[in-house]
This record gives sequence, C-alpha cells and structure tokens, in this order.
Amino acid sequence: MTLAGNSEANSAIEAAINGRALHSYLITGPRGSGKHLAAEILAAGLVCRSQSGRPCGVCPACIKVSHGTHPDVVALAKEGKENFLVSQSRFLKNDAYVRPNEAERKVYILPDAGSMEASAQNALLKLLEEPPEYAVFILLCEKDGLLLETVVSRCLHIRMLPVTVAQAKEVLRQRFPELSEGEISSAAESCGGIIGRAISALSGEDSEEQIASGIAAALAGSGELELYIACSKLEGLSRSSLRTALGILCDIIADAIVRSPDPSRPASTQQSSALAAKFSQSRLTSIYNIARVLYDRSELSLPGGSLPAAAAARLYSAATT
Ligand SMILES: [Zn+2]
Repeated sequence: MTLAGNSEANSAIEAAINGRALHSYLITGPRGSGKHLAAEILAAGLVCRSQSGRPCGVCPACIKVSHGTHPDVVALAKEGKENFLVSQSRFLKNDAYVRPNEAERKVYILPDAGSMEASAQNALLKLLEEPPEYAVFILLCEKDGLLLETVVSRCLHIRMLPVTVAQAKEVLRQRFPELSEGEISSAAESCGGIIGRAISALSGEDSEEQIASGIAAALAGSGELELYIACSKLEGLSRSSLRTALGILCDIIADAIVRSPDPSRPASTQQSSALAAKFSQSRLTSIYNIARVLYDRSELSLPGGSLPAAAAARLYSAATT
C-alpha cells in the first residue's frame, strides 16, 4: 500500500515500517491531500503481522486497522480544541503507559493536532520527549505553523504534496469504475492535485470548500436570499466540518483583503477576487470580523440549526450597512 505520487512521504513511511520507527511523526498537507491515508498506512505497517510487504492489507492486524478496531492503533476523535484539552490529552497521558495488547507497538493518531491549545501541546510535548519505548505518535495538521516549534522539532515531518493529473486519474479510475473517462479527467484536472477534493466532487458531496466558496460568492452577489441559501448548507455539518468551512470562508475574505489569493484553492481564488472587486478594504474587514466570530463560536457551543440563519443575517448586515 503506497500513496499516489508523494515519493518522499512513501519513502519516509517505508523507512519507519522496515527500519527503526521514530516515536513521533507530523504529517501536514491541505484537506484531501491524503494525510489520513498516510497515517493509516504507517500505523498498519507498524502492527502488520506479515514478514514482508508491510502493510500487507490482508492479515488480521491490517484488517483491524482498516476497520478502526485494532486495540493498539488509537485514533483520537476529531473534536474542537476544548475537548482535546479536557479529555483527550488526559486520556493520552494515561493510556500511553499501558503496554500494547497484541502488537509490538502502540500507535496514536491525532487527526487535528493543529487545533490543540498551547497548554495541550505542552502536555503532549512531555510525552513526546519521554515516550514509552513502544509508542508512536502520528500528528496530522493542515498547515505548517499551527504547532509549537518545540513539538514540531520532536517529529519527523512528512509533507503531503499535490499529485499530477495522471496520478489523480489513476486513483479516481479505481475508486469510481462506473464513471466515464471524461468525468474522471475533468475531476482530476480541476482538483489542484488534491485527490480528496476530486473524490468529494465525484461523490456529489458539497465539500467544506464548496460551501465556503458558495457563501463568498453570495456575499459578492449581495442578494440576501442567495446568501441565506448558501449559508443553509452549513446546517447538519459535523462540528469539525463546520469549523473547516468557516475557517476557509475566513481565509477567502482575508485573501480578498490582502489581495493575494491562495493558488492551492482555485475555486476560492475566484471568490477572493470577486470580493476584492466589490468591497472596500474596511468593508471587507468588517465582514472578516463577523466570519471570524462565527468561526470562533463554532468551536464552543453549537447553537444547533440557528447558526446558518444567524450567519446569513450577520454577514448580510456587515456587507450592506
Ligand atoms: Zn498485514
């Protein structure tokens, strides 16, 4: 099992599995770039029972990892930073000193390490500095710079990079054998090398980025109803997806303020330019502040179905008054 493209990541993972694994790995890359898959391959490789070609994908250990039921591969839930602070870091501290059940190693996957507050990162740092000899920690993070330098310096850093159109096509053909070559090609060409984006597009889901882009487009269009419909797509998202969508919306508005679109997000580049063309800097700053409040609030208590309506009303008011 290897990742499409990403030869450096594949080499680092192979070295960990077949050589001497380090105690901590940091995998960074945009959403949809394969961080979770990389972590799963690494974790499965470390507990796989096969003598060669680890992870084999077929032994009982590999199957348990792929079903999320291996007792020695612990993936912490994606949650807001409060939960991470209160329950997860305490859990991690206690659990890491319990020896593995069936494998030689015990692997912890921290899917949203960038959301940890400094105090939680410092608690984790103690564990990374003096880990039990069998423990391996895999931290996933969307952007560089969200983790303390002291934490990063403890980890081997694996960066997930965009793949080529040909590599994306190969993965998509296997995943969607029922689709035409034209559909596969257009998804592969428009995903910016981030296969996860092409997969959500072909699965017919609105990705968080599409939802955020839709809200930005509606803001630039200024119709209140249009904005309400775009915001209604926030309804029913999980807490982490809601936070991601609102975070991307903040990024799009921030890019419009500094007039420097993010080239890794072709869909939102267009929206940043549209916002920059329509609004003054100071108006954009007011809109940004509202988006930022919504983002911060999404991490605290979720006011249920009232958030989409509140988001639409407050953004509309910031854009027009
Ligand atoms: Zn195996």
